[in-house]
Amino acid sequence: MNSKIWLSSPHMSGHEIGFINEAFSSNWIAPLGPNVVGFEDDLKSYLNQNKDVAAVSAGTAALHLALILLNVGQGDEVICQSKTFSASANPIVYQGATPVFVDSERDTWNMCPILLETAIKDRMSKGKTPKAIIAVHLYGMPYKVDEILAISKAYHIPIVEDSAESLGSTYKGRKCGTFGDYAVLSFNGNKIITTSGGGALVCASKDTKDQAVFLATQAKDPAVAYVHSKIGYNYRMSNIVAGIGRGQMMVLEDHVEKRRKNFQFYKDQLQHIDTIRFLEEPEGFSSNRWLTCVLLKDHGMQEGLRQHLEQDNIESRPLWKPMHQQPVFKEAPRYLNGVSDDLFERGLCLPSGSNLTQDDLDRIVSLIINYFG
Ligand SMILES: *Cc1c(COP(=O)(O)O)cnc(C)c1O
Repeated sequence: MNSKIWLSSPHMSGHEIGFINEAFSSNWIAPLGPNVVGFEDDLKSYLNQNKDVAAVSAGTAALHLALILLNVGQGDEVICQSKTFSASANPIVYQGATPVFVDSERDTWNMCPILLETAIKDRMSKGKTPKAIIAVHLYGMPYKVDEILAISKAYHIPIVEDSAESLGSTYKGRKCGTFGDYAVLSFNGNKIITTSGGGALVCASKDTKDQAVFLATQAKDPAVAYVHSKIGYNYRMSNIVAGIGRGQMMVLEDHVEKRRKNFQFYKDQLQHIDTIRFLEEPEGFSSNRWLTCVLLKDHGMQEGLRQHLEQDNIESRPLWKPMHQQPVFKEAPRYLNGVSDDLFERGLCLPSGSNLTQDDLDRIVSLIINYFG
């Protein structure tokens, strides 16, 4: 059996262990400490937009905190991109609110601005103004930031920018993770940098960051005895985990470059096959190419190619199943145009790790060519 090639696996730089050793030798084995502060500072200066950053236990926790800080509660509605991973939508339900799913457009595979406005107007006509919009830069491709932002402003509905897959992507030269009222980053094991598990909430001010940290550390009021006037959460990042993050930040740009090279290699080698299509970057968009995704002719070809790769121990995966197709969200209102259903039928994510070797890439590409042979 040939060695396993994963879709996207952790890629350590060697710098991480130094920060972890430091935590051990100074006994900062806790959900606070110098690595947490250092990692937050690294992220702040990387994003470079006067944002503040709270490091937390997961991207999902950051999303949940964003919704709490935006006062999403029981009976509210929150608009969410349908084509995404379930973690984008689940925190809406944690808050007792209802997700309203909006389909994608073809240029970026992300939230369709036209449909977003249709959805807002329709919800308002039914007597409910959505409390927030969760827009996602899927697979690293930025959503149409200007268009979505204009709608958010026109209707005074804040944006939670799900940037879990798009650290290192830019839109008109500005980093993804800096466009929403809040933005969410993830450092899960499969993401472009990883802390094993972890996330961050990007906030517009120190004040909102402090509120996020307050909620994430059990909402202890400033008193000697334990006084609570709000429900708290245990969502802060561990100082050990943050040490991994500091080491990973030293190679983030290298990871982006390598993943973009993977995409270019696949494209150069495969674009002569006219039943394979790649997602191009519109003018002004730069994707970190977290995953290279291709569109095939139909569902049969998607599944055929996936199995062909699997037989050689190579992992590939259909694109995320849209949330409006998920059994758990079958009651949720939805505004659809067929795009995300079509992408799910025909799309395939190819191995895209920054640790893929040229031999790995050659092996994958020759199998794909052989499938179409
Ligand atoms: C990974 C991911 C999340 C959740 O992040 P975790 O750190 O795994 O909790 C949220 N949204 C999207 C689009 C993701 O890919």
